[in-house]
Amino acid sequence: MRVNAVIVAAGKGERMATLLPKPFLPVAGVPLLIHTLRSLARSALITRMIVIVAPEREAFCRDLLDSYGPFDMPLCLVQGGLERQDSVRLGLAALDPDCEIVVIHDAARPLITAEIIDRSVTAAAETGGALVAVPVRDTLKRVGGDGVVVETVPRQELWLAQTPQTFQVPLIREAHARALTEGVLATHDAALVERLGRKIQVALGTARNFKITTPEDLRLAEVLLQQGLEE
Ligand code: C5P
Repeated sequence: MRVNAVIVAAGKGERMATLLPKPFLPVAGVPLLIHTLRSLARSALITRMIVIVAPEREAFCRDLLDSYGPFDMPLCLVQGGLERQDSVRLGLAALDPDCEIVVIHDAARPLITAEIIDRSVTAAAETGGALVAVPVRDTLKRVGGDGVVVETVPRQELWLAQTPQTFQVPLIREAHARALTEGVLATHDAALVERLGRKIQVALGTARNFKITTPEDLRLAEVLLQQGLEE
């Protein structure tokens, strides 16, 4: 089974309010993207990584990969698009011709483990598509515009979507092509497959595989990465 990974790193990370986009911010002295690539490279299943970067950061990113690599496997850079969905679609066009399964991962989740990747690849090989997710643990409230609780939302069937999202290649290509022609924009790839009426299998993630969004998240990731990835 030939497995490629597409790592989306072409976002601006505006919520972080820094000059450098999020994937290039240092975490324990090393750019966030490099941590994520090293974590993915621990998977024995992935044979090539395709990193999607904003066109204006391509040269900068190439230098980073040269200074921090090699990563134990072939790696290439592809220019991303305006939205995450555009970036993924451009990455899908750059897969190995014989690639059967693609692991799509956010550069902003450096604490991904080989075990979770394996789980999602196995699920995608069986079902067509897999989404790494964790069950909601906190109590959920619906709150009105006036800050007053409207109701408690039952959480039994609610999960938080993470990445990777892993798919059989023809299925995800079809989902992206259909979304493009039909003008549909989604925040994640599994939603594009769901709208084709196809099954997405959930693969269990961990709380540690959180997406770095705020400066506080960066500090937490720093502590966890310094401890090493082993749980
Ligand atoms: O903005 P958000 O954190 O939801 O982005 C999720 C991931 O998608 C990030 O890793 C970001 O770099 C990536 N992205 C991208 N191309 C865009 C927008 C976001 O690769 N145009």
